[in-house]
Formats: sequence, C-alpha cells, structure tokens
Amino acid sequence: MGACTRCGRKLKDRKSIDREFGPVCYKKYLKEQEQEEVGLAENQMEIDELEGENHENN
Ligand SMILES: [Zn+2]
Repeated sequence: MGACTRCGRKLKDRKSIDREFGPVCYKKYLKEQEQEEVGLAENQMEIDELEGENHENN
C-alpha cells in the first residue's frame, strides 16, 4: 500500500500516495507529459511546412 508506480518506493507523504508517485517521480512524469505535447506540436508544424513546399512546386 502506498508505493510509487514509477520506482516502487514506499510513499510516506499523503499527497504522494494520492498521486501514486513520489515527489521526484511525479515531477519527471509531468515533464514527460509536457515533452510529449511539445513533440506532437512540432511534428504538426513539420507536416505543414512540407505541404507548403509541395504547393510551391506545383
Ligand atoms: Zn518513485
């Protein structure tokens, strides 16, 4: 009961138990979520640029 889902350490803090992450692992988890969103946005822009180049060639 009350273990970090990321590293498996026992959680003492009530907030950490609610999150099921230790404080450090929770920060890493949040950063990963942000990076995934940024990565998707960058991919979207690259696709738009490629489409623009195709229009110029036509
Ligand atoms: Zn952890």
